[in-house]
Amino acid sequence: MEKISVAEARQAAAVGREVRIQGWIRTRRDSKGGFSFLELNDGSCQGNVQVIADATLPNYEETIKHLGAGYSVTVEGLVKASPAKEQATEIAATRVELHGTADPETYPLQKKQHSFEFLRTIAHLRPRTNTFGAIARVRNCVSRSIHNFFQEQGFLYVHTPIITSSDCEGAGAMFRVSTLDPEKPPRLPADQGGKIDYKQDFFERPTYLTVSGQLQGETAACALGKIYTFGPTFRAENSNTTRHLAEFWMVEPEMAFFDLNDNMALAEAFLKRIFSDVLKDCAEDMAFFNLRIDKTVIETLQKIIAADFVRCTYTEAVDILLASGKKFEFPVSWGCDLQAEHERYLTEEKFNAPTILYDYPRTLKPFYMRVNDDGRTVRAMDILVPKVGEIIGGSQREERLDVLEQRMQEQGLDPAHYAWYVDLRRYGTVPHAGFGLGLERVVQFVTGMTNIRDVIPFPRTPGNAEF
Ligand code: ATP
Ligand code: MN
Repeated sequence: MEKISVAEARQAAAVGREVRIQGWIRTRRDSKGGFSFLELNDGSCQGNVQVIADATLPNYEETIKHLGAGYSVTVEGLVKASPAKEQATEIAATRVELHGTADPETYPLQKKQHSFEFLRTIAHLRPRTNTFGAIARVRNCVSRSIHNFFQEQGFLYVHTPIITSSDCEGAGAMFRVSTLDPEKPPRLPADQGGKIDYKQDFFERPTYLTVSGQLQGETAACALGKIYTFGPTFRAENSNTTRHLAEFWMVEPEMAFFDLNDNMALAEAFLKRIFSDVLKDCAEDMAFFNLRIDKTVIETLQKIIAADFVRCTYTEAVDILLASGKKFEFPVSWGCDLQAEHERYLTEEKFNAPTILYDYPRTLKPFYMRVNDDGRTVRAMDILVPKVGEIIGGSQREERLDVLEQRMQEQGLDPAHYAWYVDLRRYGTVPHAGFGLGLERVVQFVTGMTNIRDVIPFPRTPGNAEF
């Protein structure tokens, strides 16, 4: 007797094996012929395995005939070829053991369809549904693909801190980390302004949850060559959108001796690799998303894998938007920040393909992005995809000490506070580049799920941190 997963038990190759499978009942049907059909799922795949429990089993009347949705069981039996065409196999049970019941009066996941809004209120149970099981498997596949892609190319996986005192220059509002008593924090004397005395806080300075591991990632790249980070990232933005979380997972590669073109080529190959791995390794789940969530996801991914991404400078994009004849809510002019409506027009209507926008006005972008020879633009790039919008943001970094210091001043930053970062330009500086990819935005894009709250197990958004 071998313990196998439902995914394995569903394969024709399993026929003839005596197996043990364990999971949760989706449905039970009783046949007039004196036996019951149990649909069993264990999260290993989208499909269930059908178990045939004969009335001759010793606990048939007292237990098996009462099994219902959400009950947990161990089943032992023989895998047989199934006469039905929906499935290759079925299991003729020799033993069914009940672990836990689920009162049908209160168990929320009965057979009927639930809205995603409702399922968010039962985040602890929603992984048991088809959709959330599929999302969990795709999310796992994307994570594996990320590691495989970088590991195969000799990138080093490095770990940057979660608690930080640098703010990656306003990538987003930050969550404060403090052990001071918020009721009565220690204060500087009144003659020194009476402000909170952070010298008495745990780290003896103000600290925050990280909004990006980039600055620390650069220190690693400027010693080790090619690195990536992959970890939780926090933004206290009060933006209630379908694309923003307060806690999300970001992948940030950083490469010494890479310019912006190298960076773009890497990002494009990286996204294509993720998309093809998902199509290949999660075929059953992708078929489900294509059928139930968005009828275009598979075709869209296939098309993207086969074609080149569009590359377009910010200046060209502004010209295209101005010439479009469209009435945008936010009017466009050179120097303005592109809004979601502009990005959507470019990726969905104009190009209908992933689009790399680059060379943005220096006034729109952080101090660490390399200034172009024109003096007006920096070597920034954003990758936009239809429906989701920005999926990657990156740049070639400013490696010239004098320009970097000037940019910091320009943006009102104190170089002393970033001394360690500036040192990278003082000692053995090199051209380098990197980008950040939001894991949840990728999962959203490949699955077609419209709300980012549904592609992370426990979403953190303004007002929500229940589970
Ligand atoms: P946006 O303009 O969409 O708010 P951003 O410009 O603030 O994004 P970056 O600081 O460039 O984003 O972060 C890099 C990547 O991290 C983004 O391209 C996106 O994929 C992801 N990301 C950023 N903010 C969030 C968020 N609040 N929730 C989920 N993913 C995010
Ligand atoms: Mn943002």
